[in-house]
Amino acid sequence: MIIGIDLGTTNSLVAVWDNDASVLVPNALGQLLTPSVVGLDDQGRILVGQAARERLHTHPTMTTALFKRHMGSAHTVQLGPRSLRPEELSALVLRSLKEDVERAYGKPVNEAVISVPAYFSDAQRHATRIAGELAGLKVDKLINEPTAAALAYGLPQQNKETSFLVFDLGGGTFDVSILELFEGVMEVRASAGDNYLGGEDFDQLLAERFIQTQRGQPGFPEAQSIAQPLRREAERVRQALGNESWAEFVLLADGQQWKHVFTQDDVATLFAPLLERLRNPIERALRDARIRVNELDEVLLVGGTTRMPLVRKLAAGLFGRFPSIHVNPDEAVAHGAAIQAALKSRSAALEEVVLTDVCSYTLGIETAQFVGQIHEGGHYLPIIERNSTVPVSRVKTVCTVDESQERVLVKIYQGESRLVRDNIALGELEIPVPPNTGGVVDLDVRFTYDNNGILECQVSIPATGEQHALVIQNNPGVLSNDEIAERLQALAALKVHPRDQQINTLLVARLERLYQESLGDRREQIDHWASRFQQALATQDERIIRQTRHELNERIALLEKGSGH
Ligand code: AMP
Repeated sequence: MIIGIDLGTTNSLVAVWDNDASVLVPNALGQLLTPSVVGLDDQGRILVGQAARERLHTHPTMTTALFKRHMGSAHTVQLGPRSLRPEELSALVLRSLKEDVERAYGKPVNEAVISVPAYFSDAQRHATRIAGELAGLKVDKLINEPTAAALAYGLPQQNKETSFLVFDLGGGTFDVSILELFEGVMEVRASAGDNYLGGEDFDQLLAERFIQTQRGQPGFPEAQSIAQPLRREAERVRQALGNESWAEFVLLADGQQWKHVFTQDDVATLFAPLLERLRNPIERALRDARIRVNELDEVLLVGGTTRMPLVRKLAAGLFGRFPSIHVNPDEAVAHGAAIQAALKSRSAALEEVVLTDVCSYTLGIETAQFVGQIHEGGHYLPIIERNSTVPVSRVKTVCTVDESQERVLVKIYQGESRLVRDNIALGELEIPVPPNTGGVVDLDVRFTYDNNGILECQVSIPATGEQHALVIQNNPGVLSNDEIAERLQALAALKVHPRDQQINTLLVARLERLYQESLGDRREQIDHWASRFQQALATQDERIIRQTRHELNERIALLEKGSGH
């Protein structure tokens, strides 16, 4: 059984191909979205998902989120006594999703199609594959998120030629991709985005505005001490304003209630600068793909934040049409990954679609340029331009700068800057050249980049027929095979929080969080609830535990809406 996984920055989802359709599989809490959050519980066991998310701020040194942003780098996170890499943290999320499917279907799962942003670099893609491997999943195929969305929207299945744009606004990132479907081949023509723009930025802005409205109110707490409840309430209000013309922002702090009513018009003005920032990546992607807005056949909305009417309105205005929204925007990528998994296992229900990818960064070498009378090194010579469809092979001819030169150092970079010092160094190749030939020596530098993100650099000297090559698939941020084996052992040895206790752990974590956020009577009330739940757990009677949990969850829901006592 091959599963499809949307490994997201904020949330992850898993889907399977079942009875000729893709079906999302719920986690141990019955939810389709598993927060991409990992932590250690009080016994040092691994906790993944909603319960870990609740503990993010009550146990900040034992919990971590947003690690997708560090994929492909050597960054590590300290979780209690353990130091973990982004691949390992992702592996723990993947393992949890894999287990959800195994539980639901009673079969072992050992292969997955995992989605990645179209702009992910080689190192980031490689790290995602390793995360799969560490989770016990063979990952033959990574799928670009916009490609997955297109599959979920059924575009390839319509057998039409189309050009379309995928507008993906999630919790923390904005990605725009332009794809073309031609003779059954789906091609990513261009991708652009903003790694620091998403629903959370809207929440932050709304929270800041709320604080401004309370300025001058005696006793209003220090902003830092209420950052988390503020953010959560901001998210609730922002979502409520999707359906209501006004919503009340209620902050309970220090035993007092602080309130302000926001209307749709208020937030339209407040959010205008953020909405404006969505334009830039769209324009860049259109330019890179050399396509005009009126040539797009479809615009697909993906990511939870595109549920906001303001975002939909902006998209409708920019593209002169209403975007397609018949698939849940936060579920589209997981469905697409499952469809791709089905294509892979050649289920008869779908026609084969060949997917091609693009190289998301420019790849090139360092050269020297004549500046005045002297040669100045450090300049960038692009060889494969960003957004070229892969596999791709390009050659450029360069020459030595000095007749007496005996060696040439070909330094390979990835990036978009004019000077190599601002790009990322990938490797270098030293080539002997015949000296004193009476002139400069030409060198052909060929770059070949394949679907697996492997770059081969071949340098040949036409005058001598000599050839040298370097294959780049590793970089300092990537684990070696020995390291992978070592990490696999370490991960296998980690104890995992028991699945059947997750629902209770979630309630304990929620109560702890509420306790920390409260003061006075409210804190006493929560303390009392926490004790009641501990007593219920101590009975080990499933019926009593369920009843108490149900009742307390209802009370918490009321309390969080600002009307509970
Ligand atoms: P994703 O990364 O696609 O899971 O998106 C997560 C983001 O979607 C969060 O910032 C949520 O606040 C946002 N989101 C989810 N549902 C809604 C909604 N109904 N209205 C506005 N934003 C939403």
